[in-house]
Amino acid sequence: MYDVVVVGGGPAGCYTASLLSKNGFDVHVLEEHPVIGEPVDCSGVVGVEAFEELGLPDSLKLREISALTLVSPSDLEVHFSPASPLANIVDRAAFDRAIADKTMASGATLHLGSPVTDLQLRDDCVEVVFEEGVSGGAKLRARMVILAGGPRYRLQRKLGMGEPADFLKTAQTETPVRGIKKTKVLMGSQAAPGSFAWIVPFPKRGEEFARVGVSSKVVAVPYLKKLLERLCCDGHLDSPDIPIRSWVIPITPLPRTYAERVLAVGDAAGQTKPTTGGGIFYGLLCAEAAAHIATGAFKKGDFSEGTMGGYEKEWRQKLGVEIKIGAFFRRLAERLTDEEIDDLFRVVQSDGILASVTSKARFDWHKDVIYFALRHPALGRIFFKGLFR
Ligand SMILES: Cc1cc2nc3c(=O)[nH]c(=O)nc-3n(C[C@H](O)[C@H](O)[C@H](O)COP(=O)(O)OP(=O)(O)OC[C@H]3O[C@@H](n4cnc5c(N)ncnc54)[C@H](O)[C@@H]3O)c2cc1C
Repeated sequence: MYDVVVVGGGPAGCYTASLLSKNGFDVHVLEEHPVIGEPVDCSGVVGVEAFEELGLPDSLKLREISALTLVSPSDLEVHFSPASPLANIVDRAAFDRAIADKTMASGATLHLGSPVTDLQLRDDCVEVVFEEGVSGGAKLRARMVILAGGPRYRLQRKLGMGEPADFLKTAQTETPVRGIKKTKVLMGSQAAPGSFAWIVPFPKRGEEFARVGVSSKVVAVPYLKKLLERLCCDGHLDSPDIPIRSWVIPITPLPRTYAERVLAVGDAAGQTKPTTGGGIFYGLLCAEAAAHIATGAFKKGDFSEGTMGGYEKEWRQKLGVEIKIGAFFRRLAERLTDEEIDDLFRVVQSDGILASVTSKARFDWHKDVIYFALRHPALGRIFFKGLFR
């Protein structure tokens, strides 16, 4: 019998596995794909803090994001350039592989091409059913399981952990571009209903590329196609007909992120920023909480719901307020009309408040800048208008 099986070899699963392995446990990661990090469903913008947390090499950075331009529905622009870079653009597949390499170096075993299809809770273990290459199904027994399979919730539902209440739909592509120097974020009902679109330029093999994507409350692909057509008309792209990948982002946590002998981390637990849907950093912070609680459970020999529930308390202590405030802000932002978004831009352009916003902005922590915006008389009035419609 193994100590821990981790379902999913993404950043949250691999980081949890490496921490547990360093603590002396026999850890096995089951990843469904034959290669770590692929396919990529991410724009690869990773906050400076997350980079430091993982101790990852600078070679993974494709570019620092030291400025970005926000674009309103009627093309008003706000240029945002903080004193020091907020985030790095990474090659997401290489980023995942770097974490997986660290995981294996810590002693954990990685099984590729091994999709987990079922879990069965027994008195002294969890039986993990998975598919194994051409030889068909196989079973592993582990004293604990970490669910880290990203935004898929069949196993969580089976274990009574539920699923996130709210999601963003996404569509993204990566393409060579011309003449786009800065990261752009586009808002409004024509760009990305209920969320935002992005253009993130970066260098690749000596050429300029960009990840162009849309997150939205409705199906995102048509909005991305429209954006690609616009980039084409403006001379930034040769053709709008390029492969698009669509996926989802959970923006609320699971009702319960634990069960007897089981913890969920990362997107598998819905641990993302409700404002932007970014989830890499939160997944890593929650991986630390999961490793801490799991280590305690092994020490006590107690894997009951009571012990596992300590995980939910611990990660909510780190992120609960951020997630609550972020979710409240998202509800207000989703109700804004295009005219109100334009009005917000005009206030920021005219009022000289950009410096205050900039001084409060942190890539992974949004509470302070949200408080500032909602307490500002002119901005707050616009944000709260929607509540009374
Ligand atoms: C278009 C888009 C853009 C994004 N951009 C950003 C960004 O710029 N910055 C940011 O911080 N976040 C971003 N995110 C969110 C980010 O990608 C996720 O929060 C992050 O990948 C979550 O990591 P994870 O390890 O929890 O899950 P994942 O990265 O999804 O990894 C889960 C792994 O588990 C495997 N798996 C799933 N089910 C099984 C199974 N049954 N058996 C075995 N293996 C399984 C999967 O193959 C995958 O390898 C973006 C998301 C999308 C969709």
